[in-house]
Amino acid sequence: MKSFNTKILAVSNQKGGVGKTTSAVNIAAFLAITETPTLLIDMDPQANASTGLGLDPQSDYLSTYDLLINNKTIKKCIQKTEIKYLDIIPSSTKLAGAEIELVSMFTRESILKDSLGNIYGKYKYIIIDAPPSLGLLTINVLTASQSVIIPIQCEYYALDGLSQLLNTIRLIQKNLNPELIIEGILITMYDSRLNLSKQVVNEVEEYFGDKVYKTFINRNVRLGEAPSHGKPIILYDPTSTGSKNYMDLVTEILQHNG
Ligand code: ADP
Ligand code: MG
Repeated sequence: MKSFNTKILAVSNQKGGVGKTTSAVNIAAFLAITETPTLLIDMDPQANASTGLGLDPQSDYLSTYDLLINNKTIKKCIQKTEIKYLDIIPSSTKLAGAEIELVSMFTRESILKDSLGNIYGKYKYIIIDAPPSLGLLTINVLTASQSVIIPIQCEYYALDGLSQLLNTIRLIQKNLNPELIIEGILITMYDSRLNLSKQVVNEVEEYFGDKVYKTFINRNVRLGEAPSHGKPIILYDPTSTGSKNYMDLVTEILQHNG
């Protein structure tokens, strides 16, 4: 079997509704469409990435909860998706309890990292959708990842709370994962007609410089609709602006990673 130099990428921001899940799902889907073996891991108890790919959270599949808390092997938790090169470890609402259950566990910060060690080389990319918090689930995500994509939504107070996230990243670099870097800053829900969008871009570029992806994700109704059909945008509406934006983003990600 082919063995890859697996790249593990987190999508994280403790703010809710900034486009983490939409980005994780569609980055993973576009990578897979280019025949890049990809695994998406849903680490949010809301399980939006799982439902967004057509999984039913009521059914009793093994999830990231079983992986972290029930000591299930990672291979048992992986499922195939509608897209040939895309697998997923889904989430379930039970994962909400893991935040507390993890506290008393030995190596509680690195359970995800340790289990990913068992499938290293099997995928070219592993994309992890993080929850909207900076607790132990996110710490597991950032400890397991080589780099992190931070989506920033074009809205008022876009940069608020970002210093907390950057501080968490620094602490993890210092104590748990010295290799962790910021892969890129992703502007989401951009609307070129709004001055506010341009202001946010200016502020973000001033702060992060060339870490900001050249591709912006526009506000696009089709991106908002796709999850309720259980499909990534490439299957729901391949000609939409949202589809084009995520395709461009993945081209940029692939270029950065040689
Ligand atoms: P998060 O995971 O950070 O909470 P989501 O990706 O779930 O954010 O996005 C929040 C909501 O906004 C969802 O309903 C999603 O469908 C919608 N959405 C995300 N990105 C866009 C976009 N570019 N244009 C329009 N709607 C979007
Ligand atoms: Mg989400």
